Amino acid sequence: MNIHEYQAKEILKGYGVTIQEGIVAETPEAAHEAAKKLNADTGTEWYVIKAQIHAGGRGKGKVKETGSNGVVLAKSLAEVSEKAKNILGGTLATHQTGPEGKKVNKVLIAQDVYYPGESEPKEYYMSILLDRGTGWNVIMASTEGGMDIETVADESPDKIFKEWIDPKVGLQGFQARKVAFALGLEGEAFKHMVKFIFALYKAYVGTDSSMFEINPVLKTSDNKILAVDSKVNIDDNALYRHKDIAELRDLSEEDPAEVEASKADLNYVKLDGNVGCMVNGAGLAMATMDMIKLSGGEPANFLDVGGGANAVTVEAGFRIILKDPNVKAILINIFGGIVRCDRVASGVVEAYKNIGEINVPIIVRLQGTNAEEGAKIIEESGLKVTSAIVLKDAAEKVKEVVG
Ligand code: GDP
Ligand code: MN
Repeated sequence: MNIHEYQAKEILKGYGVTIQEGIVAETPEAAHEAAKKLNADTGTEWYVIKAQIHAGGRGKGKVKETGSNGVVLAKSLAEVSEKAKNILGGTLATHQTGPEGKKVNKVLIAQDVYYPGESEPKEYYMSILLDRGTGWNVIMASTEGGMDIETVADESPDKIFKEWIDPKVGLQGFQARKVAFALGLEGEAFKHMVKFIFALYKAYVGTDSSMFEINPVLKTSDNKILAVDSKVNIDDNALYRHKDIAELRDLSEEDPAEVEASKADLNYVKLDGNVGCMVNGAGLAMATMDMIKLSGGEPANFLDVGGGANAVTVEAGFRIILKDPNVKAILINIFGGIVRCDRVASGVVEAYKNIGEINVPIIVRLQGTNAEEGAKIIEESGLKVTSAIVLKDAAEKVKEVVG
């Protein structure tokens, strides 16, 4: 699960991570009040106004309606509400949201921490994630902060420093120092960075996160280390033990079809292709998607209806797939192991009748327990459903449909 920057920063602060202070606001008036309060707390008269959406690239992104960037500076209190107004309620498009963009419901009014001083402020990159290959956590850090890390990884991978942490032992002092050293820090800034890394790692473990990305981490002109941005991804499977974090879920940021699917206990991921598919079991679903590709189609989704496919789950699956206007055909691929094929077939027929008009061809491949009976039910239903028992036949039929 993803959360907003302002929420992530609150959590990080709770673990002792030093952050760029800010207050969230939903209206231009509230933005003005937030700036006033921030001024009282920090003495700052320089602000940064940051759109809160679940996507990166906000700084370079543009609000369609006003042309404002998603992250803008204000050099006085008077400018804050006007600049917040140009972002709030608008649609922010960044390289991560795609051209359609995302609606901005909140802005974070934060202290501009790039103030001048004895040294230049300097941006770094830092992330912590699980390296599935080794089963260890890895801290990644780079002097090339503020930039798109994918570009750094492509063009100068040697500028990304990695330190693997054995989760059984935890982060060791020498490791945090190694990272701070790799970033070229010394003196006060070095000490602050070591503390920062320790606090960040503690937050990562404590929240059961699967990814933290802090880009930029800033060394201020007076050698403080601050999290200026924060992208936090919490492991969904651990949310049951973080009720407070689970409450931060913002459904308006998620794909509506995926939200509906999770309510129906279906594993659904929307993709860009033209052949919808409904399968029982994640492995079979992956194989089915490969098969669709080999037949010349592109999968429109991943959908695993789970082990107990019945009329209710099949209907929910149909409805979700049919919401996607790109879908030209639906392939249902069920292996009857625990579930019987005749039961699934009846479920398909019943769901089809409940939904009424379905205008795309449906190909059902049932294999396993009572496959023949299942095929018979489909054929005798009189519905525009094609049945196949052999996977190759199903593939041929998909090919006929998508050309
Ligand atoms: P992102 O574009 O979604 O990754 O949003 P960020 O929070 O990373 O902000 C984008 C960029 O805005 C950063 O890389 C910084 O260069 C800049 N920025 C953020 N906060 C401040 C600030 O307090 N002062 C100044 N001058 N720039 C800032
Ligand atoms: Mn960023």
